[in-house]
Amino acid sequence: MQLPELLLQKSQWLRNQLFPPACLFCLQPLRLNGCCESCLKQIYPFPSSTCDGCGAVLPQALAPGPCGQCLKVPAVQKKTVSLYLYQDVVRDAVLAWKLRGQESGVRWLLQAAQTRMKQIVSSKDLVLPVPMPLSRMRLRGRHHGADLARMMAESVGCAWDWRLLRRIGEQARQSNLTGADRRKNLRKAFMVDMACWQACEPVQGRLWLVDDVITTGSTVHFAAKALRATGMDVHVLSLTRTVKGV
Ligand SMILES: [Zn+2]
Ligand SMILES: [Zn+2]
Repeated sequence: MQLPELLLQKSQWLRNQLFPPACLFCLQPLRLNGCCESCLKQIYPFPSSTCDGCGAVLPQALAPGPCGQCLKVPAVQKKTVSLYLYQDVVRDAVLAWKLRGQESGVRWLLQAAQTRMKQIVSSKDLVLPVPMPLSRMRLRGRHHGADLARMMAESVGCAWDWRLLRRIGEQARQSNLTGADRRKNLRKAFMVDMACWQACEPVQGRLWLVDDVITTGSTVHFAAKALRATGMDVHVLSLTRTVKGV
């Protein structure tokens, strides 16, 4: 056996001793890093029959909508797509990423959805994250939304920008608020940096606002509303979304 081959085998053995292969979601030992069968059964792609505008789940016969809500008041965004249901191991993976910086589960979910994402987002599109309040960014030392936008953009080979859409002022955490309070909290929370937009390369494709979780939809509604200052249609892509009663 050649020396480099021996060294490679030894380093692989050492890596396996230090970091034994495991399920990226439940940490159960596996032959290779990945997703175990039990976790795989708990990962649900988001239903495909939805309202095209707001992305809410609709019965197959009524898709692509518009849904009752969009008939009354059309969604600000032109299209909303979600990749996974926010529950079970998917919810745990998102929380592990946001709260503890463990991104392997989220990376696996993005990798598994790559083909679907390439059907949704083209290489000419521009991906933008929902901006975080500055204080939270300082506290955590990271901008999760920007990390997600970067990972999604890299996955489909398109551009992304985290400075274009800005957060103004400081707002209370959305998860602590009721629906009406969320809307009040977010009404004036976003603005487009027009100097930055004008200095940007013109976007040949579409504009995508990306978020990790859609719950009530208030955040993407107001962020999309602010983004219309660019004069472009806004499309929304979320990694996950909650559905009532699931
Ligand atoms: Zn598992
Ligand atoms: Zn709708």
